[in-house]
Parts: sequence; C-alpha cells; structure tokens
Amino acid sequence: MTNETRIRGDLFVISAPSGAGKSTVCRRVLKEMDGIAFSISHTTRSPRQGEVNGVDYHFVSRKRFKEMINSNAFIEWAEVHGNLYGTSYAAIESLLDQGMDVMLDVDVQGKRNISRIFPRAVSIFILPPSMAELKKRLEFRGTDDEATIALRLRNAVLEMRQISSYDFLIINDDLNSAVEDMKAVIRSRRCAASRVLTGDLPILHDLETVTGD
Ligand code: ADP
Ligand code: 5GP
Repeated sequence: MTNETRIRGDLFVISAPSGAGKSTVCRRVLKEMDGIAFSISHTTRSPRQGEVNGVDYHFVSRKRFKEMINSNAFIEWAEVHGNLYGTSYAAIESLLDQGMDVMLDVDVQGKRNISRIFPRAVSIFILPPSMAELKKRLEFRGTDDEATIALRLRNAVLEMRQISSYDFLIINDDLNSAVEDMKAVIRSRRCAASRVLTGDLPILHDLETVTGD
C-alpha cells in the first residue's frame, strides 16, 4: 500500500509497570519506523537525567497543570506515583491530521480513558520477565530513590492486574525481540482494511489505464 492511500493514522497506547523498559522499547521503535510519532505528555514530575523538556515530556508546575485541566486542554490526565500526567489534545490532533500513527505512553487509567474516547486505539502492555528483574532495572536505572522504587513496585502489581483489558502483551526479556514484537503489532495494524476509505484506493480508479476506456 502506498503512502497516498493511507488516510488515517492510528493510536497505539502503551502501558507498563515503571522500569519494565517501555521508554527503551518505544524509543527504539520510533527510531526504526517511519510514520509514527510520540505523543508528548505533560507532567509535574521533575526531569530525570538526560530527559529533555518538550521531547520526553512537557515538564510543568502543578499550578500550570491545574490551569490546563481547567481550560480542558487534556484528553485525559491522571495522578500516577504521586505526580500528575496528562495527554493534551494538542499533542495528538495535528499528528493524526497529518496521517501519522501516534504512540501514547500512559498508565492504566490513561489507557481506560483513551480507549473510551478512541475505541479504535490499539493497546499494548509491556511486561518485565519477573518482579526480581523489574526491581533490578529500577535500581540499575538509578533515577529513583528507595521509597520511589518501593512505591513503583507496589503499583506494578495493581497495574499488571489490568493486562486482560489490553489488545497485546509484549514481554520485554530480550530487548531486540520486544522491539520486533512492537513493530509487528504496528505493521499488522497498518494492514487493517478499516484504515483505508475504499473510495480512496487508487486501484479503483485505474481501470482506464489497462482497458483504454
Ligand atoms: P520504563 O520506561 O518502563 O520505566 P526504562 O525504559 O527506563 O523503563 O527502562 C528501565 C531500565 O531497564 C533502564 O536502565 C533500561 O536500560 C533497562 N532495560 C530496558 N529494557 C531492558 C531489557 N530488555 N533488558 C535489560 N535491561 C533493560
Ligand atoms: P514515568 O514517571 O516513569 O515517566 O511515568 C510514570 C507513569 O506515568 C507511566 O506509567 C507512564 O505510562 C504514565 N504516563 C506518562 N504520561 C502519561 C499521560 O499523559 N497520561 C497518563 N494517564 N499516564 C501517563
């Protein structure tokens, strides 16, 4: 299928317990695939080392976040691990209008809200291979103190109970396999017949080129 026949992008909602490797997998997929962009959320959390404002998140104060809630700037927002996170209309609308696929990194509450508003959204849950490995990854990342890691591990169990509401499950044991699995899900969606309006398929207007009619 050519680019001209793609008439609407899809939303890919990705959730995972903190430390499962979601950012790592998503960054690789975004780098290796064309036609898909990341929805940059707003958060009141402080930036981690290496995170860039306007690239990883829009980092804002609680006051600013509340103003955005009051002005209905968010499609969805939630409190996660003690911080506020939200997806703005601005973050996804222009991308969808350009026919891009959009990847959203949201928690399980965000997934529920996005699926309600966009029933066509494809949801993917990324799991770590074990709780021991999850703890190890959070410690290895070195961005969170002990209390934050303990909170994120406790929340992980609650989040994993929601797996059955997701369309796809990817286990991030070997990183390359997890990246390939996510790319496969995105590719399969790109073949969905519902993505293309039949009238827009160039082949349906091509009869004269072969019959001379
Ligand atoms: P999340 O975005 O889910 O919170 P990150 O992407 O920040 O998690 O990953 C947490 C840590 O685990 C990082 O240090 C990252 O390099 C590491 N990591 C990610 N995927 C794997 C993997 N498949 N094997 C080993 N370590 C991984
Ligand atoms: P982190 O602080 O590790 O970047 O993210 C913590 C959690 O917040 C993750 O589960 C992530 O998916 C979630 N998150 C990030 N952005 C959003 C958002 O816009 N909305 C919601 N609901 N959750 C988000």
